[in-house]
Amino acid sequence: MLIYQTESVEQTQRVAKALGSMVQPGDLICLSGDLGAGKTTFTQGLACGLGVEEPVSSPTFTIIKEYDEGRIPLYHMDIYRLGERAAEEELGLDDYFFGAGVSVVEWAEWLEEVLPADRVQVMLQNLSAEGRKITFTATGPRSEARLKELNEACPTSR
Ligand code: ADP
Ligand code: MG
Repeated sequence: MLIYQTESVEQTQRVAKALGSMVQPGDLICLSGDLGAGKTTFTQGLACGLGVEEPVSSPTFTIIKEYDEGRIPLYHMDIYRLGERAAEEELGLDDYFFGAGVSVVEWAEWLEEVLPADRVQVMLQNLSAEGRKITFTATGPRSEARLKELNEACPTSR
């Protein structure tokens, strides 16, 4: 487990950007936390680390948006609109999860049953207006390797 406390959007995006520079095809990053916790903000930082210059916004109404201009493709998904029905929908998500890019899923908790087992879980919590606690958890060897690298690039004691 890896825990960061950030005091600004820039600090959150710095950690996310570092992760974006490390992710590999087939990686899955699951973001959870309340509305406004910073899931989309985090995804923007990760996209920056991949070299995506196009602005990243929440794909709430499209569910999935793909960005192809970075080091590897970014599949940004936002499950919020589907809610508890999400796991029953035929979304064809495996094409993304096992594709050539990295999948970043907002509200991944609604997809629990259909997600690949090895993923980086990112929990964002509001501490104050600009303060956030970001907890990273690995659930397998692939995600474990990513968090080890992140810990080396971004030591938690600032
Ligand atoms: P979500 O996708 O989780 O609903 P957003 O990323 O859309 O959340 O919104 C997060 C909001 O919180 C933005 O308005 C952002 O400017 C603000 N914010 C303030 N401080 C932080 C921080 N430390 N990290 C991330 N976002 C922050
Ligand atoms: Mg969002």
